[in-house]
Amino acid sequence: MTRFDNYINGAWVAGASTRPNINPSDISDVIGDYAQADAAQTAEAIAAAQAAFPAWATASPQVRFDVLDAVGNELLARKDEIGRLLSREEGKTLPEGIGETTRAAMIFKYFAGEALRTGGEVLPSVRPGVGVEVFRQPLGVVGLIAPWNFPIAIPAWKIAPALAYGNCVVFKPAELVPGCGWTLADILSRTLLQNKEFRGVFNLVMGPGSQVGQTLVESPVVRAISFTGSVATGRRIISACAGRQAKVQAEMGGKNPLVVLDDADLAVAVNAAVQSAYFSTGQRCTASSRIIVTAGIHDAFVEAVVNKLKTLKIDHALKAGTDIGPVVDGKQLEQNLNYVAIARKEGGQLAFGGEAVERDTQGFYQLPALITGTTNAMTISREEVFGPVANVIRVADYDEALAVANDTEFGLSSGICTRSLKYATHYKLHAQAGMVMVNLPTAGVDYHVPFGGSKGSSYGPREQGAYAREFYTGVKTAYLQAG
Ligand code: NAD
Repeated sequence: MTRFDNYINGAWVAGASTRPNINPSDISDVIGDYAQADAAQTAEAIAAAQAAFPAWATASPQVRFDVLDAVGNELLARKDEIGRLLSREEGKTLPEGIGETTRAAMIFKYFAGEALRTGGEVLPSVRPGVGVEVFRQPLGVVGLIAPWNFPIAIPAWKIAPALAYGNCVVFKPAELVPGCGWTLADILSRTLLQNKEFRGVFNLVMGPGSQVGQTLVESPVVRAISFTGSVATGRRIISACAGRQAKVQAEMGGKNPLVVLDDADLAVAVNAAVQSAYFSTGQRCTASSRIIVTAGIHDAFVEAVVNKLKTLKIDHALKAGTDIGPVVDGKQLEQNLNYVAIARKEGGQLAFGGEAVERDTQGFYQLPALITGTTNAMTISREEVFGPVANVIRVADYDEALAVANDTEFGLSSGICTRSLKYATHYKLHAQAGMVMVNLPTAGVDYHVPFGGSKGSSYGPREQGAYAREFYTGVKTAYLQAG
């Protein structure tokens, strides 16, 4: 079995133990044994990043551009191979895996350009003879903590801006998907970061959240934490960071609504619902899990979604023609089925799927579930499932649809399908979410614009696009008078 080590201070080092990386499409397929760091090894990585910071903070933007551009180029050149690894360890289909790898490449290339565009402002002072400059500086050591559902895109959208703006990185991938994080570290280790002065600029520390994650969050040297994951973990991290005045950015759960109005194009609405509720096995924070449908189109919409679901192929992620791969692991599968059972117990009706199924290989396969006859008060409408499970809520009209859509503690992505400019415009302004989609799936976003939510879904400045600068830099104001 191949062993994959941590990358600390420019060297590959074994962890305190290892953990097997298992393919959820076929649990007999073990991708490799991945190092598991403990708190002491995490502290070594933090110290290495701290030592490298003066050199990286003052490195030419050309060097930062070259590092990030090289990563983007290699990801693009190897997108099929890395996309395959991604699908093998996470379970999304091969086209989805290749698509995510391509997106990660674009993110690195985008932030290569951003490294050259970090300007400031020169303003007149209110005092004669004094000049004022406002400019941005890197923060220092940043801790980046990723979830399992986007094993390469989320690491990319944290690592690339962190490095572009001059920070040193300690990156912790999720335990279930270390392979893509390791691959990113391998690529970075062969860029200009291998130069002696830049050793320690980027560190990969794989291991449990309770050891690696916790050490990052509590270290006084780590000036900022960028976290994506569950609400429970996110809230703990936010409090811990606030307590020691570290900067924190947290992207957490969702219970994203998709409103379908009577005047919607039925094909557009069905495509938006099926795409965003079930593709990538529903394991997207932007997945539509509450589908809010007005009475006039309700029955036709449900029938069309069920007909579409009947045609989808649920199978091994790497098999040609598979539409939906397996659930990420046994625990998540059990949780999904449990939510279906609770929905039925509370009065929902199963219109399709919702059960575990077997395939040629032993994996965590589940038929996508569509539950009708639900209300917004039921558990299934309140709590994030994070699997291929969606429920339909019937409403009378647009006003009720908007009220139900907003009646949630979350606010990540919110969608509406309508041909009415009036309702589309109103929804865009009044949907309580960081991202609004009209006649589009709630999942699926561009890489060059801000990503994030409102209410319980997010905390701190936005990720992605030029807005990422807000989190990864601090502002300095300089006053100067000729001496
Ligand atoms: P999780 O919270 O269990 O884990 C996320 C990361 O935090 C992992 O790397 C984990 O090891 C680490 N961690 C765990 N305990 C920690 C601790 N005490 N201190 C520091 N780090 C710790 O989440 P998950 O199960 O990996 O991911 C699924 C969740 O992520 C879902 O709720 C989903 O909505 C959310 N998610 C959100 C977005 C978004 O942008 N809003 C994107 C993807 C996933």
